[in-house]
Amino acid sequence: MNLPPKDKQHYFNLRKGYEGEVKFDSYTEKLQCDCIILNDLLLRVNSTTFQIDSLIITLDRVFLYEVKNFKGDYYYDSDLLYKKPKIEVINPLLQLQRSESLLRQLLLSLGFNLPIDSSVVFINPEFTLYQAPLNEPFIFSTQLNHYFKQQNTISTKIDSKHKMLADQLVSLHMADSPFTQVAPYEYNRLRKGISCLNCDSFSLSIEGQKCVCKECGYVEVVAAAVMRCVHEFNMLFPKQEITTNIIHDWCQVVNSKKRIRRILASHFNRIGVHRWTLVVLQASFLSLTRPMRDNSRRKSPCFVVHRTL
Ligand SMILES: [Zn+2]
Repeated sequence: MNLPPKDKQHYFNLRKGYEGEVKFDSYTEKLQCDCIILNDLLLRVNSTTFQIDSLIITLDRVFLYEVKNFKGDYYYDSDLLYKKPKIEVINPLLQLQRSESLLRQLLLSLGFNLPIDSSVVFINPEFTLYQAPLNEPFIFSTQLNHYFKQQNTISTKIDSKHKMLADQLVSLHMADSPFTQVAPYEYNRLRKGISCLNCDSFSLSIEGQKCVCKECGYVEVVAAAVMRCVHEFNMLFPKQEITTNIIHDWCQVVNSKKRIRRILASHFNRIGVHRWTLVVLQASFLSLTRPMRDNSRRKSPCFVVHRTL
């Protein structure tokens, strides 16, 4: 459906932030030093909620990162941050200081007295900050390679206490964010059809076993495209049952209901005559939609909380 301008802006902001964090992950996941990386934690201490973009636990300190995907020319003036020509934006240092203070309280309450080394990371290579103060903990995109090379020289090993700390933080992570604002929507008002995985266009046609995009030529196996739609549907309407009829309507372009039924049957357990249960597929769904990371090459034990949009 068409989003109202305010919601659209909110969505673009979320997406931009998310892309920045994923970009940052591409650096942290290459780390070879012994550490635990936790991403996207939503925590609460003394009834105050705070969010952490990235946290790296090493033997003698915790690194806290606030990742910003600002783009364009900005300037710094008397502790305030402006986008040129002169639009004040919230100084991420304030956010960082707040998170650091709350994290410190939380760590202490868990019995850990580790120093916190926190930084704001400006991840976008097209971001410039004029009059950047020398003494503030900013890391610019041009510095990231060098920064992580330095981090890689950390030779100390973490121990079971650190793993316990990571476990505790993960268990305290609040999966349902109170900040999540989703624009209201209902089934009848949403556009139906399969959208192209490559360009998001709805101009797809079915040719045999393939779904072909008329805009960009992208080809996807029909079963995969339908399952992608099932996942979309389930995400939008988690309480709705998955039935052949509804998925047939949701996908539009697949003419044959029989075909939809066959695809569903091969991916789901059937409950009752017309319904399927999602349970068996939860795990593979997650790997379809989240940027899962392969930590198998990492020598050290590592926990990662995966990002979700
Ligand atoms: Zn396309």
